[in-house]
Amino acid sequence: MGEMQRCSECSGSGACDPCDGYGCFPDSFPNAGDGPDCDVCAGDGICAECGGSGEMSNDGNDGSGDDGAVLSRVGA
Ligand SMILES: [Zn+2]
Ligand SMILES: [Zn+2]
Repeated sequence: MGEMQRCSECSGSGACDPCDGYGCFPDSFPNAGDGPDCDVCAGDGICAECGGSGEMSNDGNDGSGDDGAVLSRVGA
């Protein structure tokens, strides 16, 4: 029924968990500027699992709903 559940990756915050939504990891000391980019979210700080919505859909693509794909039968 399209029930949404909270994203388990970000606990519903929509922010990338590993980097806390900063897109990069903290510097080794303040203003060091050596904080590496987060490779989980590619630097945008958005949860890669839910795309920032904080929710995940239980049912989406279960493969049972082919919407009438055209069968191209190339008969010779
Ligand atoms: Zn998430
Ligand atoms: Zn991240």
